[in-house]
Amino acid sequence: MFQSINPATGAKGERFAELDDVGIERALATAETAWRDWRVSPLDRRTALLDALADRFDANKRELAEIATREMGKTLKSAIAEVEKCVAGFRHFAENGPSFLEEETVPVPKGSATGRWLPIGPVLAIMPWNFPYWQVVRFMAPAIMAGNVGLLKHASITQGVAAAIEDMARQAGAPEGVFQNLAIRSDKVAGVIADDRVAAVTLTGSEGAGSKVAEAAGKALKKVVLELGGSDPFIVMPSADIEEAAKQAVTARVQNTGQSCICGKRMIVHADIHDAFMEKFAAGMKAVKAGDPMDEATDMGPLSSFDQRDTVLDQVDRAKQAGATLLFGAEKVGEAGAFLSAGILTDVPRDSDIAREELFGPVAMVFKVSDIDEAITLANDIPYGLGSSVWTTDDGERERFERDIAAGMTAVNQMLASAPQAPFGGVKKSGHGRELGPWGMHEFMNLKTVLAA
Ligand code: NAP
Repeated sequence: MFQSINPATGAKGERFAELDDVGIERALATAETAWRDWRVSPLDRRTALLDALADRFDANKRELAEIATREMGKTLKSAIAEVEKCVAGFRHFAENGPSFLEEETVPVPKGSATGRWLPIGPVLAIMPWNFPYWQVVRFMAPAIMAGNVGLLKHASITQGVAAAIEDMARQAGAPEGVFQNLAIRSDKVAGVIADDRVAAVTLTGSEGAGSKVAEAAGKALKKVVLELGGSDPFIVMPSADIEEAAKQAVTARVQNTGQSCICGKRMIVHADIHDAFMEKFAAGMKAVKAGDPMDEATDMGPLSSFDQRDTVLDQVDRAKQAGATLLFGAEKVGEAGAFLSAGILTDVPRDSDIAREELFGPVAMVFKVSDIDEAITLANDIPYGLGSSVWTTDDGERERFERDIAAGMTAVNQMLASAPQAPFGGVKKSGHGRELGPWGMHEFMNLKTVLAA
């Protein structure tokens, strides 16, 4: 059984049965049967299902959000915002999906070649707990539109969310097998990937899980998209609006209790404005109050689990041992839950392990640099390359950041956030492939060339 535990209280919640081997076999057979029909379904049937899913998510917003808050501790208001984002995601693919599937014809020596977008089959999605609805929907909506069918292996701690998403699909009238929740542990994943009925796999999660899933997909020669971790730079240059940059740096670092793949984790600040930035940033971080995530007034909930909190505390300890200074924060809050106060680390040695790790909690590292070259060198001096946020009004600097930061995404004078319309993904150990927009949808499609005289 999966046991859900409320990280705000430590109380045990619902239990969910694990699928046994017979159940897995049944789900794979159902997926294959469903795909035979869904791959040739008319586009208006697919868009109608996406609209119905949007309606169901919208109508059940609060109930869905409460499940996430209870299982992984995000504030209820942020969970509601996440469900609203899912509604927008379903609508985006309903409205634009048909145009993403349009054929394109080019002349060739013996006539013409047409590229046709065809679905590829059942796709396995392995998803994390941090945005437990949105991460799934950004796979699920394009998969349904493409004519694929989806199999979800959700994180062990968010099985209530996984069951709720499957229920929404049922309520929206999805044909049996078009979207199924596979309540399995990670040790069953390689077997599912190897199964001939599974066409491809996508994973959002950590570097370690990415490596294992890529290995299994490689063995079976199957397409894999990997959306992995990161330690995004948040670079502030002298020409920037320092007040706004500091404000957004706080939001970036504490949103979702610091457990977002693309939130700024390393603040890289030019020496000329370092002290002014730090004064505002530190005041903002100190003002963040951790508390009951169900309370509308709470800024920040607990970490998603007690293990996650202990991992962050261990990283902060290792940073201090390596010579870093903990200015404040990163302390346990209250007795019962997995709460931590927001904190700031400075003087982190650039060659220390911690400077290159992902810190998945509300603790920022701040670095002082003397020019743009040093800022870019430091930004790139990690194994990851997911996102980045740069603050400058100088066009030359902006061009350097866009061109030279080795990341899948760069946000200029704003905090990085995903949008259904824009490609999302990373380079280096942050993974490969893209989600969202036509790019994400096409990752799991067969672009068939049809030659005609
Ligand atoms: P995780 O431990 O890698 O888990 C993610 C998913 O992978 C879960 O469903 C997990 O199942 C499964 N999993 C773990 N080990 C596996 C293995 N060996 N084989 C197959 N599946 C395995 O990551 P997390 O701690 O939940 O999530 C946080 C990480 O995700 C961070 O690194 C974060 O940056 C990253 N992330 C990236 C993006 C992005 O778009 N790039 C977005 C969000 C999060 P169990 O729960 O059963 O272990």
